[in-house]
Amino acid sequence: MVRRIVRARVADHPAADDLVQETLVRVLGAAERVEPGMLEPYAIVTARHVVASMWKEQDRQRRNQHRVADLRLPDAPDEDLLQGEDRAAVAQALKHLSERERRTLLAHELHGQDTRSLADELGSTAGAVAAQLNRTRARLRVEYLLALEHTEPFSDRCRPVLIALSSGDRRRQREVDAGRHLLECDLCARLSHPLLARGQSRDDELRIPIRADADVVLARQGVRELAARVGFSGTDLTVIATAVSEVSRNIVRFADAGEVVVELLKEPRPGVRIVARDTGPGIPDVERALTDGFSTYHGLGLGLPGARRLMDEFAVVSEVARGTTVTMTKWCQEG
Ligand SMILES: [Zn+2]
Repeated sequence: MVRRIVRARVADHPAADDLVQETLVRVLGAAERVEPGMLEPYAIVTARHVVASMWKEQDRQRRNQHRVADLRLPDAPDEDLLQGEDRAAVAQALKHLSERERRTLLAHELHGQDTRSLADELGSTAGAVAAQLNRTRARLRVEYLLALEHTEPFSDRCRPVLIALSSGDRRRQREVDAGRHLLECDLCARLSHPLLARGQSRDDELRIPIRADADVVLARQGVRELAARVGFSGTDLTVIATAVSEVSRNIVRFADAGEVVVELLKEPRPGVRIVARDTGPGIPDVERALTDGFSTYHGLGLGLPGARRLMDEFAVVSEVARGTTVTMTKWCQEG
C-alpha cells in the first residue's frame, strides 16, 4: 500500500521524491513520539507530500519569477545540506501534531479509510473529520516552514495567521487580520510566499507585494492577465489596469510596504475585486482625498478620485498612522 502510494507520487516528481523519501525514512528513525510500524509509514507519506508539493511550488515560482518581483529565491542548495535541513525540519514539524491527529491522518492517507468511517470511530461527522484533516495538513506545512527557518515566531499572532494562510480559510484569515500582520511581520511575510503560492494554484487569485515602481508594473500586468479570463473587453481591461496602477502607485509614494490582492468573482456575475492595502501614514480626511481636483500627488496620474470613477464599487478605509485599504470591484458588462 505504501509502495503504491509512493510510486504514484514518485511518478510525478522523480528526483525530488527519491531524495525526500530516503531522507524521511532516516528522519523518522530518530523522531521522538513516533511509534514504529504504525506512524512511520504515515509520516513518510504525509511529510513527503508536504515537502514535495513545496518543491513543486518552487519550480512553478521559478518559472513565474518575472511576475513575483519580491520573491528572492535561494541558489540551488547543496544536496547534502538540503537533506540535513529537511530531515531536521520534518522531525520538528511532526512533534507538533497530537497522537490523535497523526493516527487520523495515517488512517486516511495511508489506509484509504474514508472520512465517514473515521467519523464513526471518532464519534464525529464526516465533514468535521475532513475539516480536521485539512487543519492538520495546514499546521504540518506551517511547522515545517518554521523549522526550516530555525525560528520560533516573535509574536503569538504568527502561528494563527500562518495556519489561516496555509489552510486557505479566508474567513479565518479575516478574523486574525492576516493581511495586516503580513505587512508588519517579516517572518510571516517571508513564510507566506510558499503558503500563499499553494492557494494561487487555484488560479483565481493573485497577490503582489508592492514596494517599488517595478511592482506597480507587475500589478498592472497581473490584473490584466487575470481579469482577461472572465471575459472583460479590452477597454475594460485597460480601465481596470489603470485603476490598479493608481492605487499601487499610492502605496509606493506614501507607504513603505503594501500589497495588491486581485480576486476573480463569479457571483452575482463575473467580475474582479482588487484590495490594495498598506501600512503607511493613513489618510486623515478620506472624503477630501476622494474629491475631484484633490490630487494626492500633484499633477501625476488620476489619484483616488480617478480610480473611483473607473470602477463600479470603491471603498477606502484608512486609519491615521496605521494604514489604508482600498477595495474596488469591476463587473463584466452583460451580453
Ligand atoms: Zn508573524
